[in-house]
Amino acid sequence: MLLKRRFPSDELWSMRYLNTRMELTEKEKQHWANLEKGYEGEVKFDLLTEKLTEERLVIHDLLLEVNNSYFQIDTLIISERTIHLIEIKNFQGDWHLESDKLYAANTGREYKNPVYQLKRSAALFRQLLQILMQTIPVEASVIFINPEFTLYQAPMDQPIILPTQISRFLKDLNHTPSKLNEGHRKLAQQLLSLHQTKNPYTILPDYHFDQLKKGMYCLDCHSLLSPVHKNLVCEKCGGHEKMDQGILRNIKEFKLLFPERKLTSQSIYEWCNANISKRTYSRVLKKYFTARGSTSNTYYE
Ligand SMILES: [Zn+2]
Repeated sequence: MLLKRRFPSDELWSMRYLNTRMELTEKEKQHWANLEKGYEGEVKFDLLTEKLTEERLVIHDLLLEVNNSYFQIDTLIISERTIHLIEIKNFQGDWHLESDKLYAANTGREYKNPVYQLKRSAALFRQLLQILMQTIPVEASVIFINPEFTLYQAPMDQPIILPTQISRFLKDLNHTPSKLNEGHRKLAQQLLSLHQTKNPYTILPDYHFDQLKKGMYCLDCHSLLSPVHKNLVCEKCGGHEKMDQGILRNIKEFKLLFPERKLTSQSIYEWCNANISKRTYSRVLKKYFTARGSTSNTYYE
């Protein structure tokens, strides 16, 4: 049973928005590409977990904190006698491990060994279970999901699951009978309630309201949209969107990128920068948000 599904992170959404509204550096583009790639791999694994049998609880994308240390769990599977803690990597191409360091074969560049990240998460998670007075054993694994991933000199004693081993891993899991009780369900609910929404590891480019491109952009080709009757229309690809939906989408974008700025019809008017009256923005804001402040100084939450 799936208790928490995965969505693109705020960090990934922000990078998508910023890419349309400013010139990213090569390094920032690379960071964004890595986020997209990682997310794609995680979604691929989520699909595989949909076919799990027996009674199990599945939680995707959990961010927890123990003693001021944050750690992320890509997928957590609670079975009767085991909790599986899974880290998913979507690396591609040829890699090799040498004295615990991970290198890309084509560039020779050194990368963080995901097994270290996993061991840290597993240790913190076990601490958390102790705090919650739980004794269920934890099995942690890194799954390399990309079928075009090859790891030379893969050590056999590491918690690594290679692309060719994933189906066996799932088969073995499915062959382990599992009946859950109230204790398992309570633990799952406790973990969900401890989930943190603000990720301290988020890395975003430096950006300011004044410096970003204003306007509403096409979902398909990222060109500017223009208002036509009650729609927003893309002159480049012909894509269109209902005006209210488009405005709401751009309000959400503004809110995510500028959580500290007040949401007002003036700020949205500037942000959307289209040939649309301020009254239209006020109407959409009123419809989807709650008005606060005095009439002359209204903002929305
Ligand atoms: Zn378009």
